[in-house]
Amino acid sequence: MNRTAIYPGSFDPVTYGHIDIIKRATNIFDQVIVAVADNYLKKNLFSKDERLEMLKEATKDIKGIRVEAFQGLVIDFAKKNNVNVLIRGLRVISDFDYELQMALTNRRLNEKIETLFLMPSEGYSFLSSTLIKEASSLGADVSSFVPKSVEDKIKEKLKNLK
Ligand code: ADP
Repeated sequence: MNRTAIYPGSFDPVTYGHIDIIKRATNIFDQVIVAVADNYLKKNLFSKDERLEMLKEATKDIKGIRVEAFQGLVIDFAKKNNVNVLIRGLRVISDFDYELQMALTNRRLNEKIETLFLMPSEGYSFLSSTLIKEASSLGADVSSFVPKSVEDKIKEKLKNLK
């Protein structure tokens, strides 16, 4: 049986924390669909296409994954792809509240969908896309948290915003 999971998120932008989770997921599943949420309510720094492009570049050497964008509910995207496992990353305890609410809401919407939580290595446990954007805007070196291509993109984006 071919086991597939979906790892949904904003990936605004992708960090080594996300990549860590993607690699762990590929050790468990035959195929992982990394799904970039195209949600107009959420204020992202990068457009959907920019987030997709950065993710594709950052994961090009990882086997068994597919990077795609989706609109609307993740459970509908899962159903369309015939997938019943969602992967989410759990960093610090503060993630738990939100992730539990979301997992239970998704389960309420579709009983058959299970959410599987994976923990990143400790080194990435405090890493978030928001932190990277803030630190970078203040001039910090973020090269140990995001791939070079992403670092360059953030710098370019922030320069254009000034
Ligand atoms: P969302 O807006 O859906 O939370 P994110 O791109 O911020 O999208 O995160 C997608 C998933 O990846 C979430 O489950 C989040 O907890 C997880 N994640 C984000 N950063 C890390 C990290 N450093 N380590 C492990 N998981 C992470």
